[in-house]
Parts: sequence; structure tokens; C-alpha cells
Amino acid sequence: MFGFSLTKILVTILIVVAVWRVFGMVERYRAMAKTADAPKPQLKAMDFHECPRCGDYVAKGVGCPKCKGSA
Ligand SMILES: [Zn+2]
Repeated sequence: MFGFSLTKILVTILIVVAVWRVFGMVERYRAMAKTADAPKPQLKAMDFHECPRCGDYVAKGVGCPKCKGSA
């Protein structure tokens, strides 16, 4: 009854691998559910203003990339 056989050892290894995989899938599912529930970062509105030299619209506090002038 308690004798070891190759079949018993293989079935035991198979069961352990199956349980391991199921736990891995559950963990992955939980991680996906957590990221889906997390609020998405809000995009902040940016202020743009017209470049006095070329008339292009550039972000506030950033030099105009078109004419390389500081706005
Ligand atoms: Zn400009």
C-alpha cells in the first residue's frame, strides 16, 4: 500500500504542477483586476500661448521650438 511506484510519483508531481499553475493564474487574474480598478491618471490641461515671433502656439514656460526664441 505504501510502496513507491513510478506512476504514483509522476501523478503526485503532476498534481503539484497543476496546483502551482492554478495559483499562478489566480495571482495573475488578481493583479489584472487590481490594475483595472485603479483610477487612471488625469491629464492636466496645459496653457498654450502664441509665440510673438512666429505665431506658433507653444506651452507656457517653454521656449518656442520653431524659432528657438524664448517666449
Ligand atoms: Zn516662435
